[in-house]
Amino acid sequence: MRPSVLDPLFASASSLPGVGPKVCALLDTLLVPAGSDAGPRVRDLLFHLPSGLVDRRRREEIATAPEGVLATLKLRIDRHQPGATKSQPARVFARDETGEIALTYFRAQSAWLEKLLPVGETMIVSGRVEWFNGRPQMVHPEFVASEAEAEGMTLVEPVYPMTAGLSAKVLRKAVHASLERMSPLAEWSDPDVVRRHGFPAFDKALRALHDPQDPLDLDVNNPAYRRLAYDEFLASQLALALSRQRMKRARGRSLSGDGAARSAVQATLPFELTEGQRQAINEILNDMAQEDRMLRLLQGDVGAGKTVVALMAMAAAKEAGAQSALLAPTEILARQHYAGLARWCEAAGLSIALLTGRDNGKARAEKLRRIAGGEVDIVVGTHALFQEDVEYHDLGLVVVDEQHRFGVHQRLSLTRKGRAPDLLVMTATPIPRTLVLAAFGDMDVSRLTGKPAGRKPIATVAVPMERIGEVVERARKAIEAGEKLYWVCPLVEESEKSDLTAAQERHDHLRQVLGDVVGLVHGRMSGEEKDAAMADFKSGRTRLVVATTVIEVGVDVPDASIIVIEHAERFGLSQLHQLRGRVGRGDRPSSCVLLYRSPLGETAKARLAVIRESEDGFRIAEEDLNLRGEGDLLGTRQSGLRSFRIAKLEEHGDLMEIARDDARLVLTRDPELKSERGEALRTLLYLFGKDEAVRLLRAG
Ligand code: ADP
Ligand code: MG
Repeated sequence: MRPSVLDPLFASASSLPGVGPKVCALLDTLLVPAGSDAGPRVRDLLFHLPSGLVDRRRREEIATAPEGVLATLKLRIDRHQPGATKSQPARVFARDETGEIALTYFRAQSAWLEKLLPVGETMIVSGRVEWFNGRPQMVHPEFVASEAEAEGMTLVEPVYPMTAGLSAKVLRKAVHASLERMSPLAEWSDPDVVRRHGFPAFDKALRALHDPQDPLDLDVNNPAYRRLAYDEFLASQLALALSRQRMKRARGRSLSGDGAARSAVQATLPFELTEGQRQAINEILNDMAQEDRMLRLLQGDVGAGKTVVALMAMAAAKEAGAQSALLAPTEILARQHYAGLARWCEAAGLSIALLTGRDNGKARAEKLRRIAGGEVDIVVGTHALFQEDVEYHDLGLVVVDEQHRFGVHQRLSLTRKGRAPDLLVMTATPIPRTLVLAAFGDMDVSRLTGKPAGRKPIATVAVPMERIGEVVERARKAIEAGEKLYWVCPLVEESEKSDLTAAQERHDHLRQVLGDVVGLVHGRMSGEEKDAAMADFKSGRTRLVVATTVIEVGVDVPDASIIVIEHAERFGLSQLHQLRGRVGRGDRPSSCVLLYRSPLGETAKARLAVIRESEDGFRIAEEDLNLRGEGDLLGTRQSGLRSFRIAKLEEHGDLMEIARDDARLVLTRDPELKSERGEALRTLLYLFGKDEAVRLLRAG
């Protein structure tokens, strides 16, 4: 149960003064992450930090006031000029030492105006100064007060990120009221950490940030800001540590064997394992042999050869008499894994089956029977692997490919089948260290560095959209020379549908120019249609395939040698890197053409340069983090990784590790969070929406 001290903060925002249904709906848009239907709460207003401030203590003068930005003037009111007709604005003329300005009001009653701006008085007025026909004017000043009134008023006010239709005044008032509902909370952080970093108390930090007196008060590196970032990290690390503790508690078992299956697999591989692969395999086998449950992340760039590593682990499980499940995020990938693994498995005497949402009826029932009976050693599939009625004979190892697409919270449900199976997560997204921590907490990590021998570098060029004609000509030549190309269409933010239209249109256009060697694959196709389109491309019936980002992960057509990416400036760097990784898998020299819409902004330019210059996924990911912040790194749309509300990974990354250590330490001392500090930490978890983690505690 949520501690009652938090009740006021979890009350609906509609309980605040000035927040009716309309404002509440706007706050919902502004503050509540998509996909949540909880509605805005007082807490959400508290966590909505200002992006800047207006300082009315600073006075400008009419003649030199900057145009178009908020300025505060001290003015003597000269005369009122009512609008000649109803639709004409009223003007109030006022001056300072440097000149005259017109304060312009539409549809204002003259009596009201005369009272607001009395002739002969000196007033403090702020608003946007605009020059119109060579004269300065200010339309609807947003702040008007007499000198005497201004004395007693807050002249410095925070400026919040807004959404259309919401008034700044209403939002400020709501935040202010939210602050009044907040009382001090018991300290949840380690006193040492608090002291070392000079952190103010949680409530003090929030109050300070909502009441900035100086731009420095809003600096992400000031102690109040860092305090809140730390709290957010601590909540997330504690939640991850709790889920890890829970998983580890379900005692695993030692899986090890005589090496027979592994040798058989190795004998059938048409290549030698790389040093990196050997090392990763050793780390994994070592974990599997422990009584503790394995929770390991295998990170390796696209094409690094993770599948074989997984296969060796699954062979080891078989030696120990256990089954393995390999979970892929999409149907295409599940089929591809199956096709790739089946030849090796068969040669090595391992039995393998494919189970996806497309299986049904008798055939499915037969597969389930074989799985439940232990006739199958390795099951490859999509989510269908974990449906209710799928029973395993003895599931010992779960391998998850490209897990970030599943969402981190699903981690627990994945392993519900079987007796506490070992878990190996493979990701091609070269997540930087801070993000690994953010997403996976203290999962153990193996990194596959270096690519299999024989890989050729990919020549990457950036070309403006105006030159698309040349690119199409080049595509024609390449096709004539027997090459295969991907043509990836823009990711349009608004909707999946417009993605599709773009791809469809490009397909039609290229088909006109290049003929029926052009194919199309996109996310809205049925599984069979997708397979057919990819099979045509593989077999060479089509030579150019227009695709949306469905090809982003893992698709393997080794003889495709050119990839054209349209609107490259709209993709995340890591996404571009993944896409580019579709080529350069065979023995031909390959290339990547980044088509962009000019003009490019500075950041976009820098980002495309990084991709042109580097093929190192880890470096690209770090650069991406520096250039844009963590929000989009994994392509927020597909990733299960939600960015933080307050903390900024690129600024506060150093705090993450401290939070991880603190979380771990707390749980060794107080695994049930029963101590006084433990209670405070529960409050923290609720505050940051980690209710799920608290439930883990109770489930014991
Ligand atoms: P990823 O890490 O992107 O999942 P894959 O496992 O799909 O990479 O491997 C990419 C390609 O490299 C596959 O065709 C695979 O058979 C091949 N491969 C894997 N390991 C080696 C190796 N040691 N030497 C040569 N080729 C390899
Ligand atoms: Mg793969």
